[in-house]
Amino acid sequence: MNQLFADIESHSAAYLDRLVQVTAQPSIAAKGLGIAAVADLLTSMLRAIGFQVEQVDTDGSPVILAQMEGAGPQTLLFYNHYDVQPADPLEAWTTPPFEPTIREGKLFARGVADNKGAIIARIGAIESYLRVRGRLPVNLVWVIEGEEEIGSVHLHQFVTGREELLRTPLGCVWEAGGRNALERYEIALGCKGILYLELRTRGAARDLHSALAAVVANPAWRLLWALDSLKGPNGRIRIPGFSDDVRPPTPAQRRALAAMDYPEEQVRALYGIDSFLDGLTGLPLKERLVFGPTCNIDGFHTGYSGPGSKTVLPQEAMAKVDFRLVPDQQPAHVLELLRAHLDREGFSDVEIAWWEGEAPSASDPDHPFVQEAVSVAAQVYGHSPNVVPMSPGSGPTYLLCAQFGVPTVTAGVGYADSRAHAPDENIRLADWSDHMRYIVTLLERFAQP
Ligand SMILES: [Zn+2]
Repeated sequence: MNQLFADIESHSAAYLDRLVQVTAQPSIAAKGLGIAAVADLLTSMLRAIGFQVEQVDTDGSPVILAQMEGAGPQTLLFYNHYDVQPADPLEAWTTPPFEPTIREGKLFARGVADNKGAIIARIGAIESYLRVRGRLPVNLVWVIEGEEEIGSVHLHQFVTGREELLRTPLGCVWEAGGRNALERYEIALGCKGILYLELRTRGAARDLHSALAAVVANPAWRLLWALDSLKGPNGRIRIPGFSDDVRPPTPAQRRALAAMDYPEEQVRALYGIDSFLDGLTGLPLKERLVFGPTCNIDGFHTGYSGPGSKTVLPQEAMAKVDFRLVPDQQPAHVLELLRAHLDREGFSDVEIAWWEGEAPSASDPDHPFVQEAVSVAAQVYGHSPNVVPMSPGSGPTYLLCAQFGVPTVTAGVGYADSRAHAPDENIRLADWSDHMRYIVTLLERFAQP
């Protein structure tokens, strides 16, 4: 390992230059900004270290597919994304988001934590590995998509026709994560799914004088009553069949959950809340956070909400709602259940105007690949990592991996104050180097029979 670590160390300035180059270039999927330039830049960096690279076109951003043959028969999959979140509000940044700046051992730039830092660290790790060992011990398939931050909406077009390729890997090193608030390295084994939708009700052809509420239906009330039918004050989701496909955690998942950090006091202080929902604490709190499906109202818009009064009977009302899903709930099925429920409750006038979804996945904590990733983390970081049996957030882990039986482990360069999606996004350069050491150590494990 010493040789590999020494090579990383002696090339870290050159690797850092790459990171500065890539984070100086915006690639905002939500605005279609700079996507091709960053895809091309990464393609040339990957080719320069020996990858076969293809840019796979979709109806959105191209997906970068990079492959390299190794000495052994096994294959590993890496997943990352080259798109970033919009940088606004710009005035809240200490230095401009696309002028990467180092202060106090940290690099500040939009996308550096989420997740260009990990991409460039992995390129550096592989380059060092090849220089020292000559060849990778495993075949590597690397998928770098350009629409993660907008829900991976076209990734299925990449997956279609590549099922055989995606069935091959023994495991996937996913993006995201790093060190948690207790400075413990964290590994998540998959993601919750999501069904995100917009509900809409319509009334008169235009906004009316509110005196007419005596005789004309108000779409805001219709929508409120429909929302009320989804979830009761006791927190139970009232859609019949919603929980039928929920698989209870396995004994291995429960063990992982019991060992998982959740610093309740710090989290409460951070969020400014006195207690968690339903007074939850300890293991039941962790179980709800990791394995509980949700029904959440993201936004509700109707009528007038400016200063003072405006007596209006709104023409329409709209709500954004998301459901976080757990294995084996499928978004399209939950959507059908929701439609049937609304119709049965007398809300067939409530339109589902738009929806998108991702299925959930949670890898088995006892899977040999997961165990290997955990043990390498313990070696590199010097402590046993915090294993999160399933991330409470969502991502395309099911689409790319779980549906093919491939387990996923997250591996990232972030820490508790990385401010992903927010102004002053940053990583600590020490964590960035650790990620390179983690990747070469993981590769080295597969060099042994
Ligand atoms: Zn993100």
